[in-house]
Amino acid sequence: MELTSTDVWARLQEAIRDKVPQHAHSTWIASAEVGALTADELVLEAKNPFHVEWLEDKYRSMLEAEALRILGRPLRIVVRCSTTPDGHPLPTLRLDVADVISVGSDKADTSSDESGTWSAIPSDHRPGLFSRYSFERFVVGANNQLAEAASRAVADKPGKMYNPLFLYGGVGLGKTHLMHAIGHELLALDPSRRVAYVSSEQFTNELVMAIRQGKTAAFRDRYRRMDLLLVDDVHFLRGKESTQEEFFHTFNALYDMQRQIVVTSDRPPKEMEGVEQRLVSRFEWGLVVDLRPPDFETRMAILRKKADDEGLVLDDDVIELIAYSCTSSVRELEGAVLKLLAVSSVWNQEITPDFARRVLALRRQEQQQRKSAPSLQHIKEVIAGGWRVRIEALAAKTRTRNVTEARHVAMYAIREILGMPLTEIGGVFGGRDHSTVLYSIRKVEGRMTGDADFRQRVESAMRELREPADGAFRE
Ligand code: ADP
Ligand code: MG
Repeated sequence: MELTSTDVWARLQEAIRDKVPQHAHSTWIASAEVGALTADELVLEAKNPFHVEWLEDKYRSMLEAEALRILGRPLRIVVRCSTTPDGHPLPTLRLDVADVISVGSDKADTSSDESGTWSAIPSDHRPGLFSRYSFERFVVGANNQLAEAASRAVADKPGKMYNPLFLYGGVGLGKTHLMHAIGHELLALDPSRRVAYVSSEQFTNELVMAIRQGKTAAFRDRYRRMDLLLVDDVHFLRGKESTQEEFFHTFNALYDMQRQIVVTSDRPPKEMEGVEQRLVSRFEWGLVVDLRPPDFETRMAILRKKADDEGLVLDDDVIELIAYSCTSSVRELEGAVLKLLAVSSVWNQEITPDFARRVLALRRQEQQQRKSAPSLQHIKEVIAGGWRVRIEALAAKTRTRNVTEARHVAMYAIREILGMPLTEIGGVFGGRDHSTVLYSIRKVEGRMTGDADFRQRVESAMRELREPADGAFRE
């Protein structure tokens, strides 16, 4: 079957039509153009950087999940902007390891690209590094000073100073940004260096594919040739034993050759449950640094810099308003700016302080609703609904396959979303003990790596729970 990029995009759009409010669909999805399709990647071209961010943040994982369902193999959705503010084409986002695992039998797809515009990967492409995530664009404050300095040191003297460098902190505090910056810097100093950036999720998926296709040796070689390996969000490896095992060996191989390894996580090594001790202790060999939420001054500086970099004109008063009202992370700051821009473009209004105040207040309200939204009861309802079992059955002794599966998924969802302790979760499900709960959650995680249909079902339930509604553009 030969599918062109246009075909694939049309199907994807159709597939998510019902999952996204109509207004959002036309604003963000339908307005994107389709670019090249290769064996493992579909490029979308959004009309400006805000559309890029919005698509990536809100819709990429949804699109990737649908692509997996439709094509039966993973397809990375890469969103790019046709031009930077100064009119240059942006380099393609691309994973260096992509061709190891690119799907043999589907190679034909590579040639089926019609658009022509993006079919050639620019010769200066970086290994999956996002060009905007550079040191130049990283604003340093008391909250991230140490992390930034360590990252620079590592880029300067890879494998020599801190190996591994372990960066941790909450969502949206700049971990991924710093990682990419290290990659850029190293390549700027020596373009012949081999750099790979990979999320733990990709690492897992690629390993699963490689095993399935009997290509583990190629998978291994490819990673072990790197001078710098950047592995993002290792907390994702929780409970994934075979991936941890593979990563452990990759780690050792690179470490022995004094190649630099950088990993990020949402928590420090010692708090990583479900990750093998030997791996955790290696994470502690080098330097462990945290990133904290930015203080007010830093938030102002970040907003000014963003506005400058993106060529936006934002009033000082507006900047201050945003800095006051968004305190948790840099991602949140950006989200607020995006929201302001989006609303102002939809309603065709200028961003005055008054307008900003109203939009930010609205945003806060939505967030509060969202925060309180997935209650325990709600999670049970959604999962029971998705698996077509009665809610009471979840806590009962019933052991039919479907009920057991729903129960496991509900435990997993409660753990993921509410972070509730295992014993308490056990209590919710009719007094099951902590190890039963742990076993159930592991089981779900294990199956998610191997069974694409199952993963799809769980992920879509999780999405529903995390984003009860894309309220942003509901009129
Ligand atoms: P994390 O990986 O910790 O979740 P990211 O690195 O993805 O966070 O950062 C979220 C967003 O915030 C990105 O767009 C990133 O460029 C931006 N960002 C984070 N920290 C800074 C900073 N200190 N200066 C400028 N931008 C930042
Ligand atoms: Mg990140």
